[in-house]
Amino acid sequence: MKPIKFLDLQKITRKYSAEIHQAALRVIDSGWYLLGEETGVFEKKYAQYIGTQYCIGVANGLDALRIILRAYIEMGVMNEGDEIIVPANTFIASIIAITDNRLVPVLVEPDIETYQIDDTKIESAITPKTKGIMIVHLYGQCAYTDKVSELCKKYRLKLIEDNAQASGCRLNGRTTGSLGDAAGHSFYPGKNLGALGDGGAITTSDRLLAEKVRTLANYGSSMKYVFEYRGYNSRLDELQAAILNVKLVRLDEDNQRRKEIARYYLEHITNPEVVLPVVNDWEAHVFHLFVIRSVRRDELLRLLNDKGVQALIHYPVPPHKQKAYEGWNHLHFPVTEQIHREVISLPISQVITDKEAETVVNIINTLS
Ligand SMILES: *Cc1c(COP(=O)(O)O)cnc(C)c1O
Repeated sequence: MKPIKFLDLQKITRKYSAEIHQAALRVIDSGWYLLGEETGVFEKKYAQYIGTQYCIGVANGLDALRIILRAYIEMGVMNEGDEIIVPANTFIASIIAITDNRLVPVLVEPDIETYQIDDTKIESAITPKTKGIMIVHLYGQCAYTDKVSELCKKYRLKLIEDNAQASGCRLNGRTTGSLGDAAGHSFYPGKNLGALGDGGAITTSDRLLAEKVRTLANYGSSMKYVFEYRGYNSRLDELQAAILNVKLVRLDEDNQRRKEIARYYLEHITNPEVVLPVVNDWEAHVFHLFVIRSVRRDELLRLLNDKGVQALIHYPVPPHKQKAYEGWNHLHFPVTEQIHREVISLPISQVITDKEAETVVNIINTLS
């Protein structure tokens, strides 16, 4: 049997191959590779798509988050040592963005059913030093709730969205990336809107923030050879922007296909050893990952791998147990740790076939 890849990037690129080749050639032949027309067009289209006033292309998703926080520091909204609330089970980039700015991440447990930050546990984590909440739309599911928004108003906190895994996700008709004060997006090849290399963006409707972010991403300069800040060199390049312009048009259709696969998995995986994801709102999940849980995770993973299905774990070790954050290693977050012990991500993308999904389901249902 042909192995089933977790993510077949070659097949995904082939899907848009003619348009991508055309776009890439256009850029190559233009002789203009940075800060040009393609990036300008993408920024405009992506802001429109997300529903914000501004979009600023940057080099990757980590930079997007890092630069948003740095901008808030330069604006005097945040200061070194201030606290940012963040889910304990996020990908480490969300946390690195905070600590790189000498801000302090305050980890809050996720909900065991949705894997999103548990909004009932946020208020008790707020202190006089708290300046923001970074919600992460993990696995492609919307983490925003009215409660999070109310807490931000009540305590005057900035709401930052880590939208790296949720391009195209909507809540009551609004797109994630427009729900908070600012959002970081990633166009890493494996994300729902993937470039052919690194890429990222910041979206916001705050004009002052947008200006600061653009300046910071350009070495701290808004006027040639004049430097207001010790900034970053963080750009979305013209080639990637041109490719993203091609793929953005198909994002909704691609996410729709992911949902079809997810629905199929949900309806056909019947093994009682497996806990399926809970989907209350189909608009509010774009299935960057389809994550199941089992106390027999390692056994199930071995079975899938032995049968040629590439399933992965997102993520095997939580941030607070990483060497990078040694000072937290003694901390205990039981829900987070349970998730990291029990999860498996099944193959899902816009190019998984019905037949492949059926094979995955059959293997899982044979675990007895
Ligand atoms: C991928 C990812 C990032 C970082 O994006 P890069 O483009 O890889 O820098 C940040 N947060 C989350 C949740 C991610 O999944």
